[in-house]
Amino acid sequence: MSANSNAQRLVIVPDAEDFNSESRVSSSTVEPVVCSFCFGTGMEVVAGKGARRCRCRTREVQAKLLEAARIPRRYSECSLSNYQPVSNNSSQLRAFNYAYRLVREYPSVDRGLLLMGPCGVGKTHLAVAALYGLIEKGTRYLFYEFGALLKEIQESYNTVSQISELKVLAPVFETEVLVLDELGAVKSTDWVRDTMMQIINTRYNGRKLTIFTTNYMDERRGQTDETLEDRISVRLRSRLYEMCRTVSIDGEDYRRRFGKG
Ligand code: ADP
Repeated sequence: MSANSNAQRLVIVPDAEDFNSESRVSSSTVEPVVCSFCFGTGMEVVAGKGARRCRCRTREVQAKLLEAARIPRRYSECSLSNYQPVSNNSSQLRAFNYAYRLVREYPSVDRGLLLMGPCGVGKTHLAVAALYGLIEKGTRYLFYEFGALLKEIQESYNTVSQISELKVLAPVFETEVLVLDELGAVKSTDWVRDTMMQIINTRYNGRKLTIFTTNYMDERRGQTDETLEDRISVRLRSRLYEMCRTVSIDGEDYRRRFGKG
C-alpha cells in the first residue's frame, strides 16, 4: 500500500482530553525541539483511528508557552502579519523574509538571526513575531532584554549564591529558542563579557537557536560611533557569525514616523 493511500484513510478524531499540559510545558530541563506528538505539524496520529488536532495546539498549552516566554506586553501584538516593510526599503523586506523562513523551516534551521540596525526599525517586532510563529509549533521559547538579563543574574549572584545565579541562567542556556534583545546595550566590563561569552557559548555548543537584536552595526557610521565588535569584543562577534545570519535593517524610526510606543 502506498504512503498516499495510507494518508487518505486517516480520519479526524476528537481532541485529547487526558493530556497533562503541566508535564509538557513546565519541564525546563529536557525539551524536545518540537512537539514529540506531532513533530510540529499540528496533527497527531492516533493509532488505529486516524488523526486529530495535536494536544500541543490547545489554547491552554499555547497560553502557558506564551506566558513562559516572557514577551513584554508592549510587543504582545507583534506578528509577522502586521509587520509592514516600508515601501522601497529592501532591507526591511529581506529581514521579514528571513524571519518568515525561520518560522516556516524550524526545526530544520542551523542558524539564528542577528538583526542589526538603528532604533525603531522593527528589529524587536520581527524577533517577537518569529517567537510567536514558533510557539505555535509547540515548544518552549524565551525572550530577554539583554540588560535586564544581566541585572537578574547580577542580583541573584550578589544576594545569594552561585546556585541561585544558575536558576536564572539555566532556562537561558536550555530553552530551544531564545531572543536576546539589545545586545551590546550594556557597557562592557570583564564580568559582562564573561557572562555574555558563557551564555552564547553554551547555546552554541548545545546547537540552540538564538535571535539577537542590536542597535550597533559592523561598520562605523561616524568617527565616534562604536561598532558591535567594540561593544561585545571581536571574539564574541566572530562567534555570532557562526551562530546567526546577519541581517541589517535600515530606515526611519517607526515610532517617530507613526507616533507609536
Ligand atoms: P527596534 O527594535 O528596531 O528598536 P521595534 O521593533 O521596537 O524597533 O519597533 C518600535 C515600534 O514600531 C514597535 O511598536 C513596532 O511594533 C513598530 N514597528 C517598527 N517597524 C514596524 C513595521 N515595519 N511594521 C509594523 N510595525 C513596526
